[in-house]
Amino acid sequence: MKIAYFSMEIGLNENIPTYSGGLGILAGDHIKSAADLNLPLVAVTLLYKRGYFIQTINPMGEQEELYPYFDPRAFMEPLPFKVTIQIEGRDVNIGVWKYNQIGLKGRVPVYFLDTDLPINAPEDRLITQFLYGGDNHTRICQEAVLGIGGYLALKRLEPGITTFHMNEGHAVFLTLALLREFDGDEEKVRQKCIFTTHTPVPAGHDKFSYGLAEKVLGRYLPKNVRSLAGQDLLNTTALALNLSRASNGVSELHGEVSREMFPGFNIGHITNGVHHLSWTGAEFKALFDAYLPAWREQPQVLAEAHCIPDDAITEAKGLAKKRLISYINSVSGAGFTNEQLTICFARRATAYKRATLIFSDLEYLFNLSFDRVQLIFAGKAHPQDDSGKRLIKEIVNLGKQYENKLRLVFVPNYNIWLASLMTQGTDVWLNTPRRPREASGTSGMKVCFNGGINMSVLDGWWREACRNRINGWAIGDDEDDSDEAAASDLYQDLDDMVTTYYANPKQWLAIMKNSIADISPVFNTHRMVLEYLHKYYL
Ligand SMILES: *Cc1c(COP(=O)(O)O)cnc(C)c1O
Repeated sequence: MKIAYFSMEIGLNENIPTYSGGLGILAGDHIKSAADLNLPLVAVTLLYKRGYFIQTINPMGEQEELYPYFDPRAFMEPLPFKVTIQIEGRDVNIGVWKYNQIGLKGRVPVYFLDTDLPINAPEDRLITQFLYGGDNHTRICQEAVLGIGGYLALKRLEPGITTFHMNEGHAVFLTLALLREFDGDEEKVRQKCIFTTHTPVPAGHDKFSYGLAEKVLGRYLPKNVRSLAGQDLLNTTALALNLSRASNGVSELHGEVSREMFPGFNIGHITNGVHHLSWTGAEFKALFDAYLPAWREQPQVLAEAHCIPDDAITEAKGLAKKRLISYINSVSGAGFTNEQLTICFARRATAYKRATLIFSDLEYLFNLSFDRVQLIFAGKAHPQDDSGKRLIKEIVNLGKQYENKLRLVFVPNYNIWLASLMTQGTDVWLNTPRRPREASGTSGMKVCFNGGINMSVLDGWWREACRNRINGWAIGDDEDDSDEAAASDLYQDLDDMVTTYYANPKQWLAIMKNSIADISPVFNTHRMVLEYLHKYYL
């Protein structure tokens, strides 16, 4: 067995900006757990030299973007060969960089594909340059490099691949390379491929006009492509579903939604996880090492977290929280304290995540919160998402306007580093997506490894993990998800939470412990990767 994992973005650590959010982080965590579990897996992605941007906020509260040049040489090694594919009838050369630092012995290599080579035409050098390429033409070229170029690179570097795992439809053109390899035998291609979809709304699936696809991909397109990828547009998800032996969504609910969206396909689900060793902070690592030392290899032993003394948990959480609060104060001068109940909301700023839901009744919040609740917000908007940018501006300006009524800070430049600090330090992690848009979500899982508590809409992973008021708080139920219902429920939860935190610390600690013991044994990528192994890889 040998698995090739293809992903348009992979987030390994804060120094390598080749990710833009949840999909990339999940891919990185998948690879890390595969390495820890000694699975024969290799990964392929693109090398963006202008990747994840740096976000600053100007005095008007507007997001500004900086794209510093990423020099890969400090982190990975260029391999001494190229592969060549045809794009629009031209030869495009692809260089390959090898990153070999994952796992204790560097067992899982990650291959980064790079078209920024002097022998390429200037426009082709730009194909892999930007993570946010923007238009459909750049996008389909990038997907051709990933799928077809990645396939050719592995043919040379990693013979004997038994399964190609397409993480999202972006990688689907590898099936076109496989079709050529097998003289158009679709059944043979299907036997080689599995597919994970991450997108619960039709508009989120990449679709290309056949005019564009024929122009860019030319002879790679099989004659019957419309019967595999859709009559009117080339739908990458449909193509991937048609040419995979197995497909899955990333939570139970997302599996259901995907089956409704693509009837006739047998789509299962494997709920996402996080790499526990990457997301547990120093304080809780020390605690778990002392009381449950097997947790590093077997995170499921954290189910025994009730054996850890209350004082030790309180102390670890206090230290992690102090790190967060001093950073917030240093960048904002907000004067937050280590004692107040701290709630974080950090995720991509985009309409469906409803970042401003908690501000729907400001008077209520003013009464509840000053000197009792501290709110920390973070998140980037996609450079072309104006409504996401307006959300950021609204939050920044609320914090300024109501300085004396609300403790609220927006911290710029959410990334792996800031996500670690926030998920490790916060008391509560808030999430208010419009169901079922959050296919899974993963940031809330990071919180559980650090004694934090989730308060979230019952979407994605949280719908499976939540025991309301026992290991966290549910916003709403499985029925009504209007903004009004969600907001009113959110305020009830907040009331309950503030009372518990200040008046009943023993109860609070019990919920913290349940958050660790109930959730972290399950919602980690060791469990997830083993599920992929047993259901799909073997
Ligand atoms: C974990 C993580 C995400 C994914 O979080 P969601 O819960 O899906 O919003 C996104 N960005 C960064 C930087 C992360 O660390």
